Amino acid sequence: MLQSIIIIALAAGLVATLIRLAQHRRAARAIMQSLITRREIGGNRLPGAAGRNWSELISEANELIAENKSMQRTRSGRLAQLEATLGSLQEAVIIIDHDNTVLLANKALQSLFPGAGTVLNQRFENVIRSAAFLEYVGAVRNNTAQPQHEIAFVTANETRWVEVTGAMIPAVNDSSSQWTLFVLHNITRQKKLEAVRKEFVANVSHELRTPLSLVKGCAETLVDGHRDMSVDDRDRFLRTIQNHSERLASLIEDLLLLSRLESANPRLHVERVPFASFLHSIIDDYRARPAAAAHEITTDIDTNIGELSIDTFKLTQVVENLIDNALKYTPAGARVTITARQRALPASEGGGRGVEVCVRDNGPGIPAADLPHIFERFYRVDKGRSRETGGTGLGLSIVKHIVQLHGGQVRVESGQGAAFFFTLPA
Ligand code: ADP
Repeated sequence: MLQSIIIIALAAGLVATLIRLAQHRRAARAIMQSLITRREIGGNRLPGAAGRNWSELISEANELIAENKSMQRTRSGRLAQLEATLGSLQEAVIIIDHDNTVLLANKALQSLFPGAGTVLNQRFENVIRSAAFLEYVGAVRNNTAQPQHEIAFVTANETRWVEVTGAMIPAVNDSSSQWTLFVLHNITRQKKLEAVRKEFVANVSHELRTPLSLVKGCAETLVDGHRDMSVDDRDRFLRTIQNHSERLASLIEDLLLLSRLESANPRLHVERVPFASFLHSIIDDYRARPAAAAHEITTDIDTNIGELSIDTFKLTQVVENLIDNALKYTPAGARVTITARQRALPASEGGGRGVEVCVRDNGPGIPAADLPHIFERFYRVDKGRSRETGGTGLGLSIVKHIVQLHGGQVRVESGQGAAFFFTLPA
């Protein structure tokens, strides 16, 4: 009897232990599962009797999961922040690994190398095809590179200049691969401006040197030999000095005017004037000048143009420059016609209504090859004729700047004679 009772009690104990064991196993599995899926166990408790005993472990596990989640959030936030920061940068950024595979590149890089297509995970040399750049990559890795390096990318159509700075990214641990970061700054515009500036300085020096050396030469001759010189010779030397110093003065005047027009804050003294009478008064003044005596000046000016807001002093220079050129570069007996009409301006000129003025002549015109350059500083088709007539080679450049400051545009056509057009917004 007692034996049976003991056996039953043992069996009951065994069953109870097995049930507990199963509950503990379930609890352990639930904790494992929640750690894997990173989902906290609700209420820090597991259902069932075993839950009470596991509560400490569960709350530890829940804390671990919460901490892990917050780290994940911070990491993805930082990554998004980094991507957004790189994306908004003007500079192109590219990161490559030890094997030259692109790990990261921002939008600016794709706009700098539009032909590169998909960049990520590509080999670097397929994205940026340049032996000079590849050499620089090697130098950065060997720590022999200059902090900044200029590289030219020459294609059939253009040359682009890039200033590149490279740096090694310290490896996170011994087993991680070595990354290299490059920041590329497009300096093509600066390079072009620098070339324009150098050319301009060279042109100015050249333009100043010729009259200056003539003035100097004549002055020296006069100083040395004026006592033994005939009056005629002395007169000739003095006139040369006068002519060339006048040329120097107008060159410097035009240069100063250009620099004022090109300054960051060029001033226009705008007033509203009846435009047709403004044009007529300049043209009437011209008709009375000896320079126009051998030419026929005709007009076709729309009297309905009305008032325009213009800087009368500067716009007078525009009209005078164009009429001057038409008289200078055409033979005696040629005709110069000034027309002005109202017209709709194209969207490229701000749209809306405007006025177009044209100064046309029936002279020799301008060769087609010269037309695209005609408004450039110091550009002359006939250098001899320009200098002979006191030209500085800056007149049309000044015309363009003044018209653009008024919001208009200039253009030229040439076939039989030359026709210079400029528009003004109404
Ligand atoms: P310049 O002081 O030499 O006249 P511009 O800038 O006014 O300088 O003109 C540039 C060049 O354009 C001139 O040297 C001349 O060769 C050419 N040109 C200008 N207007 C005319 C025209 N009406 N007919 C022919 N050539 C012209």
